[in-house]
Amino acid sequence: MLGLMQDWPLLCHRIIEHAAKYHGTQEVVTRSVEGPIHRTNYAEIHARALQVSQRLDRDGIKLGDRVATIAWNTWRHLECWYGIMGIGAICHTVNPRLFPDQIAWIINHAQDRVVITDTTFVPILEKIAANLPSVERYIVLTDKAHMPQTTLKNAVAYEDWIAEADGKFTWKDFDENTAAAMCYTSGTTGDPKGVLYSHRSNVLHGLMANNVDALGTSATETMLPVVPLFHANSWGIAFSAPSMGTKLVMPGAKLDGASVYELLDTEKVTHTAGVPTVWLMLLNHMSANNLKLPHLKSVVCGGSAMPRSMIKSFVDMGVRVRHAWGMTEMSPIGTVAALKPPFAELTGEERLDILQTQGYPPFGVEMKITDDAGKELPWDGKTFGRLKVSGPAVAKAYFKVDTDILDEDGYFDTGDVATIDQHGYMRITDRSKDVIKSGGEWISSIDLENLAVGHPAVAEAAVIGVYHPKWDERPLLIVQLKAGQQASREDILRFMDGKIAKWWMPDDVVFVDGIPHTATGKILKTALREQFKSYRFP
Ligand code: ADP
Repeated sequence: MLGLMQDWPLLCHRIIEHAAKYHGTQEVVTRSVEGPIHRTNYAEIHARALQVSQRLDRDGIKLGDRVATIAWNTWRHLECWYGIMGIGAICHTVNPRLFPDQIAWIINHAQDRVVITDTTFVPILEKIAANLPSVERYIVLTDKAHMPQTTLKNAVAYEDWIAEADGKFTWKDFDENTAAAMCYTSGTTGDPKGVLYSHRSNVLHGLMANNVDALGTSATETMLPVVPLFHANSWGIAFSAPSMGTKLVMPGAKLDGASVYELLDTEKVTHTAGVPTVWLMLLNHMSANNLKLPHLKSVVCGGSAMPRSMIKSFVDMGVRVRHAWGMTEMSPIGTVAALKPPFAELTGEERLDILQTQGYPPFGVEMKITDDAGKELPWDGKTFGRLKVSGPAVAKAYFKVDTDILDEDGYFDTGDVATIDQHGYMRITDRSKDVIKSGGEWISSIDLENLAVGHPAVAEAAVIGVYHPKWDERPLLIVQLKAGQQASREDILRFMDGKIAKWWMPDDVVFVDGIPHTATGKILKTALREQFKSYRFP
């Protein structure tokens, strides 16, 4: 027997409709790409998103067509998200930090018909436009006064383009499983892969993100997503914040410590989210200038492991730290390290121990760890295994790729290696391709990196496995020192000694001027392995 409740498809644009109706005057503040601070609200964003839909519809964009955005976090970008999705077209967020060739590859693979971009990225697009045959027009997110001279096909300033529509338009109705958005993984191994989100998965993920033990905000809070809309959907904040009527502060193109600090301070931001590099810049700026953030309550940090020293800095400021793990294929939230009852009372190092784990899943994500043969491993906090996940906002296939990516129980292999303890707290120990296999045992490169960055002279540390004649592989620690600081190989090894198992100690330490990063700010281990491929331990 079926229930007798209404069919109410979970469609993304219903979120902005709700925000406009019940939180219409709630502010959305942006540091605009042109420079000045811009203020709008959910009612205006909703009205202008309808103009975007109407205008795209008039240009012949149909259900299932792909529209790319290559843009910073701004109110205009948000309007485009809802405008694109509201007619059943697919909002394809492209990461501008990728190499131009990768951007071209992705746009061609997605067959994007329209590209919506900021003035910042016009020069990059001009270089590759000749190789983008599917793109019919470029819309530049600015007004007439700031519109650059450009050779881009049918280029138009966004403000002029939407001014041609009066917004008297009704969003389309379609099945909630219709594709709403797509995002390609950065492709550090092989070609990038397209993840295709549905309206249903985005709405459910937005609700999951809003769980108070996840990113949870309310109509009385202010959220600043430093994490870009082009990086794994800004962790769902473009849906979760309007669904709650949370004031949004968008940082635009300036993500340095001073600029982020200024917005957090002047807009009295209570909640913020971003990757560790962003928080490192913020904390350095604050300590160099002896600054405080009295309004800040919660920092969510994910994308790569959050170093313990960083967690401590926020805890010492009285800010709640939420270390989160996830990936593009999961929309992206997987786990969040909130403190459950037995741990909420902990203090000092014991509290940091829990905050440093990647946490446990909100309702809507299931996880397990297995060995290479697929056998489930115990949740004892010690046994490492392949981390596999399932849920309504987890990918079941990649766009235009036929291969089955799920195991026989319907779980997706994340490519991460993790432990899970008896309370369900998960700890990422590595990417499966980065784990160091020493004499048949596994050593976590992430644990070693986290420990090494705790040394006061170390700016950044990376650990890779290097060939060893007896043990197959042993860890090599690669260190970039802080400007003006000195430390020797022995100083660093002495600092690490006693804090990890003896056999985990790196066999050598090498110093470099800079550590390479991916387009999403992660250490680029493939480049380091290449750089040190002829290295032999002394
Ligand atoms: P990209 O490779 O494009 O940056 P994702 O953002 O989807 O793609 O990256 C997901 C991966 O980032 C995860 O599989 C994991 O390896 C890593 N990651 C994300 N959050 C964390 C975290 N808190 N700690 C350690 N690793 C993390």
